[in-house]
Amino acid sequence: MGKFPMADESLLRIAVCRKCKSRNKLGAEKCRKCGSRFLRPKRKESRVKK
Ligand SMILES: [Zn+2]
Repeated sequence: MGKFPMADESLLRIAVCRKCKSRNKLGAEKCRKCGSRFLRPKRKESRVKK
């Protein structure tokens, strides 16, 4: 690992709610939308390009 493009970095800082699939900040305790605590971080290893 060396470079950190801003796009990748922002992706790494996103957590997705498993319930409503809304985006939250990584490190958030609860989903801001539904209040669920089932948040999963977005992974860089999965396919980022679309
Ligand atoms: Zn939610």
